[in-house]
Amino acid sequence: MKTILALSLAFLSFAPREGQAAELNAGIAVTEITPPVGYRMCGYFYERLSTGVHDPLQAKALYLQQGAEQAALVFCDLIGVPQTVTDQARVMAGRETGIPATNILVAATHSHTGPLYFDALRTFLHQRAADRNGKDPQETADYASVLSGKLADAVSAAKKAARPVQCEAGVTRQTGLSFNRRFHMKDGTVVFNPGKLNPNIVRPAGPIDPEIGIVFFRGSEQRHLLASLTVFALHLDTLGGTEYGADYPFYLERSLRERPGHNFISIFGAGTCGDINHIDVTTDRPQKGGEETLRIGNALAETVLKAVPGLKPADKPSLGVRYATVFAALQEFSEGQIARARERMRLIGTKELSFLEQVEAYKVMDVQELRARFGPKLPMEVQVFRLDDDTAIVGLPGEVFVELGLAIKHASPFRTTLVIELCNNDIGYVPTKKAFAEGSYEVVNSRVKSGGGEILAEAALQLLRELKF
Ligand SMILES: [Zn+2]
Repeated sequence: MKTILALSLAFLSFAPREGQAAELNAGIAVTEITPPVGYRMCGYFYERLSTGVHDPLQAKALYLQQGAEQAALVFCDLIGVPQTVTDQARVMAGRETGIPATNILVAATHSHTGPLYFDALRTFLHQRAADRNGKDPQETADYASVLSGKLADAVSAAKKAARPVQCEAGVTRQTGLSFNRRFHMKDGTVVFNPGKLNPNIVRPAGPIDPEIGIVFFRGSEQRHLLASLTVFALHLDTLGGTEYGADYPFYLERSLRERPGHNFISIFGAGTCGDINHIDVTTDRPQKGGEETLRIGNALAETVLKAVPGLKPADKPSLGVRYATVFAALQEFSEGQIARARERMRLIGTKELSFLEQVEAYKVMDVQELRARFGPKLPMEVQVFRLDDDTAIVGLPGEVFVELGLAIKHASPFRTTLVIELCNNDIGYVPTKKAFAEGSYEVVNSRVKSGGGEILAEAALQLLRELKF
């Protein structure tokens, strides 16, 4: 559990040549973050206990440095990362490495086969177990605290492993794997996941983002592949079951590494996939379980490998970081609504409430947790990392609708813009104004008011413009 695999590329010479801009250095470290078996699992609206490990959960830290600028991006095989965890990890990592906390991004990949370790559902189940048993038998470890420490350690280990690199970046297209999961129905409503071959479907209510954003990092001297970053907008909810797993990025990495000389670390960033999943409603083919996970991971790897020769080398790296905190109004509920939600939490996971009634009760309670921590305005941190004049990486909090990510990419002044969601805090779904008007699951499960998503996108564009020279 405690291993940190710091990649070491020996035999390289690092002396920067005179007259050149400072070299870009990168390091990577991987740490295992699998909780004990028996811990509650996340992803659905009922109590689900883990029974084993399909594949280990990991956090992968990428450290970047050029001249005086340092940055780190950490990706966790988790459904989300709450600000309580990321604040602590970023402060600790900053103290150990000298990287400003604002230059550290901590993201979750959104795996639905990880631990339930924060939010109102976790609070409810944890307290209920503690009330019944004196202590919660499922939480044998303080997962959140252990996680913060591991993430900070991973950043330090990645810095220690840093060496000169060259990076290359670009985008390719992947169709046939991702689908907008919201549909206009014959009765005029918009419904999420209406079911395969549902005859009442008229058309999807939104687009997908078929782009895969790719950055490869190679050791400068021998061109060894050190790491890849792949960003794709597709919910990580394909594995299911009660065994821990990283979902399709696990198979993406395994498949990429099958090639000779490809013993590198594959990092996955979740694109803006709040309304995107893998379910193809035009077929009745079963789409849950390990085979589907394998199919998606392998298909992505194949597409990524085909794109590698076309990636553009970043010959003049210019690492730069900007961040901003913007605010979205949290939704408001009356005392009566809160009391009813508190009552209804007991019925989550039963058949006594409809699915959306359960989601709403959970959401109302979660908004109360957010209000207790932040007040009526929810801070939303946006970060942008420039790799060179052509390539930038955007980090946004929450489960962001694909339309918002697309809007950022289309208006970005960079040739290649990777937009990653679920960074630094899990603020629930971030729908568009249009989706708020349409309703359905993601809107019921959102904490911000309509307009919060557009504020995020505008802030990201402002930072991208500031970083473009
Ligand atoms: Zn989700």
